Amino acid sequence: MSRFWSPVVKTLTPYVPGDQPQMQRLVKLNTNESPYGPSPKALAAIESQNTADLRLYPDPKGVSLKQAIAQLHGLESKQVFLGNGSDEVLAHVFAGLLKQSKPVHFPDITYSFYPVYCNLFGIDYQTIALNEKFEINTTDYQSSNGGIIFPNPNAPTGRSLPRSEIESLLTHNKDSVVVIDEAYVDYGTESCIPLLRGSDYPENLLVVHTLSKSRALAGLRVGFAVGHPDLIEGLERVKNSFNSYPLGRLAQAGAIAAIEDQAHLKETSAKVMQTRSKLIEELNALGFETLPSTANFIFTRHPKHAGVKLYQALRDRGIIVRHFKSARIEEFLRITIGTDEQSDELVAAVKEILS
Ligand SMILES: *Cc1c(COP(=O)(O)O)cnc(C)c1O
Repeated sequence: MSRFWSPVVKTLTPYVPGDQPQMQRLVKLNTNESPYGPSPKALAAIESQNTADLRLYPDPKGVSLKQAIAQLHGLESKQVFLGNGSDEVLAHVFAGLLKQSKPVHFPDITYSFYPVYCNLFGIDYQTIALNEKFEINTTDYQSSNGGIIFPNPNAPTGRSLPRSEIESLLTHNKDSVVVIDEAYVDYGTESCIPLLRGSDYPENLLVVHTLSKSRALAGLRVGFAVGHPDLIEGLERVKNSFNSYPLGRLAQAGAIAAIEDQAHLKETSAKVMQTRSKLIEELNALGFETLPSTANFIFTRHPKHAGVKLYQALRDRGIIVRHFKSARIEEFLRITIGTDEQSDELVAAVKEILS
């Protein structure tokens, strides 16, 4: 605490990112990174950049990257917004679209960055409880609000909604923006992006993506949002009032090649989904109760073993998973899907701990 802090800084409770420990020989299953690495074409694109050009500012508008994203998803470039990781995109979404006179609505159990942004920007919010199966019930989102946001699949539960549910959410909320954070969409969830194609797409849907998870580029910091051009223009106004060059030259070059390499994405996501089914089966055979997952992580608990104890016992064995000390989910562990070998190490450690 310093007497020079502004009043708002004194009240902040910042987001706590998952640990990035420096220990050797770690099985790191705590921050939902990809175990397989990015497209080799993305790495080659970054390496082929002329480093002498780094003295020059990058393209502030990210024209080529926007084109690549628009082409992949069957959209127009003016429907695309870019940011330095989707966390930055989300920050601009909160500041530029969700700060309204009515409270923004999001689930009680969800990405813990949302309330952090609300506090930073002075946004009123109301949480809506997930049902007892940890599902989002879209009919709970029909009361008056200043916007709605949640991840699909939700984090940290991993449970997802079909596109038809999002469509019904949109028809019941024509006067507010609905933001769907599709950070984990590539592991078996229906994307809402097709709703934005054609000519009469909704004016209030914004879909946010990241290259950090399924595209394995968490270290490059690239995220984007797609939606109606008027929503995008609002976000551009915020961005150009904050940082006009959020994406560096290397990030733009790598992201374009990564977006164009659908084959690598499909191959690595399929491997993750295979490992996920096997891991769920093995853990459930040991008495775990695991929520259905369409993400690259699972959310699981053991009725006879406290979440925090399991977390610590795994950590003592060099296996890092995520545990949240929050209401309703204290008994759960969120475990990132790694390679089959990492899964085997996890299951072996769990067997040892339970015996
Ligand atoms: C990881 C994650 C993000 C942020 O990803 P960036 O690395 O900032 O692009 C956004 N939303 C959810 C739900 C996430 O899990």
